[in-house]
Amino acid sequence: MKRAMLSTAIMLACGVMLSACSEPQKPSNNEAQPQANNSDTGYQLKDLSPARLDIYTEVTLNSDLSHLNDNQKKMLGLLIEASKIMDDLFWQQAFGMNKAEFLANIKDPKVRQFADINYGPWDRLNGDKVFLEGFADKAPGAQFYPSDISKDELNQADVKDKAGLYSLIKRDAQGQLYSVAYSEAYQTELNTAAQLLRDASKLAVDKQFSKYLNLRADALVNNSYQSSDFAWMDMKNNPIDVVIGPIETYEDQLFGYRTAFESYVLVKDMAWSERLAKFAAFLPELQQGLPVDAKYKQEVPGSDADLNAYDVIYYAGHSNAGSKTIAINLPNDEEVQLQKGTRRLQLKNAMQAKFDKILVPIADQLIVPEQRKHITFDAFFANTMFHEVAHGLGIKNTITGKGTVRQSLQEHASALEEGKADILGLYMVEQLLKKGEISEGTLEDYYVTFMAGIFRSVRFGASSAHGKANMIRFNFFKQEGAFSKNADGLYQVDMAKMGAAMEKLSNVILTLQGDGDYQKVDQLLATHGDIKAELQADLDKLAAANIPVDVTFKQGKAVLGL
Ligand SMILES: [Zn+2]
Repeated sequence: MKRAMLSTAIMLACGVMLSACSEPQKPSNNEAQPQANNSDTGYQLKDLSPARLDIYTEVTLNSDLSHLNDNQKKMLGLLIEASKIMDDLFWQQAFGMNKAEFLANIKDPKVRQFADINYGPWDRLNGDKVFLEGFADKAPGAQFYPSDISKDELNQADVKDKAGLYSLIKRDAQGQLYSVAYSEAYQTELNTAAQLLRDASKLAVDKQFSKYLNLRADALVNNSYQSSDFAWMDMKNNPIDVVIGPIETYEDQLFGYRTAFESYVLVKDMAWSERLAKFAAFLPELQQGLPVDAKYKQEVPGSDADLNAYDVIYYAGHSNAGSKTIAINLPNDEEVQLQKGTRRLQLKNAMQAKFDKILVPIADQLIVPEQRKHITFDAFFANTMFHEVAHGLGIKNTITGKGTVRQSLQEHASALEEGKADILGLYMVEQLLKKGEISEGTLEDYYVTFMAGIFRSVRFGASSAHGKANMIRFNFFKQEGAFSKNADGLYQVDMAKMGAAMEKLSNVILTLQGDGDYQKVDQLLATHGDIKAELQADLDKLAAANIPVDVTFKQGKAVLGL
């Protein structure tokens, strides 16, 4: 999976950034500075509607820590300190200019907070559009590469670790490209972070967690992460977890090679994790029942999915930039995946925040009053979670001899795979409800909450794989009469037709994947993959009602009472 994603009145930023409230400093003349002359007025907004500053709403990121002992609480404090270093490193990778100086030069507190959320002067939820005067467009390769590099140049260059996950590409005085390992480029910061992880490991009672922390500390220093990924997969019973280091490659939009620093400090929800393990065991049986011809479900899905629920108590770096992740699937190392599988982490308190602040207000604007009682957190959590599990259903290899589904569908593969996981996740919920394995709520809760979820997701734009998947589903549901619109323009789910549309769409997607039919997928995206005028009007209504697009977190040791 890629990442599932999901803010109001942005709080005045003075509490967050005290330095910014004092006199702005003059920018220094180091190389990373923009060309702007801003010493008198600070950085000014450029082409950004003031409403855009309100797309994020602040939520306090909290969790019940009463079951943890003093050592565990101390450990959380150390992990948060290590995470702050990941945050600083991500600023360097994404933007390069000194963060404190940059922010201090933005006088308007709302603009300053917007820049802080975006880790620079580019609007992450609007295609990285520059929103401050004097800054150029964001380099697709961020700070991972020299700003003047072209794809061809690197492709043709003889450079060590050209496609490296953990190195920067630089240019020397003669113009020659060379690479520098993260462990060298960020040596001071990484040594400090490693020491914090080692200090935390001494407080860990769970031996496997202690081992993982030590290996992760080693990895930060020696630039080799695989053994720590293996150790992470071997941990099973640790009540505390941390995902930390250079992990995802989305920030490198030039090549998608290089990883960005991030961190999640996590407290495991043991009771929920047990329930999730139970659901994964049904995958083989549910695969058999998929509404598609037998040849499209001939593979047997694994039933040992490592699926757990957590509260996140700290986000840092890439995971904290722009939209906030609510579900993670790691590690990315294919060798570790082959031997150990992956772990899927459901971030429950972050989901609750998005549910309360975004999904419920969306439903109040767009769903008929009599169905709003069906918007429930249980349904939202289950729909998000079963999306993850449902990636395991269907088939990975075409039945037409075209190789894997991913190879044959090329750039459309991700959109279709995400669309599959969404619709089959709902299918799983329906089946498990029927079996009595899920006891919370009614099918109507899951359908109506699913429908409202489409509006939430399409607000991230139709350009991402998830966005395209949501558009296909919305347009397909419309065509099948799964929802109708009343005279007030409010959406009503038709239960019977929704069930039928769900089956039909499942069939369509599974068949397209199994056939590896690129042409037909291309056609489906062309006819069903865009936001049409009517839906755009509904999305405009949400924006006019000031419903946030995503959340931002008030977080840290003080919030948690640590
Ligand atoms: Zn997914």
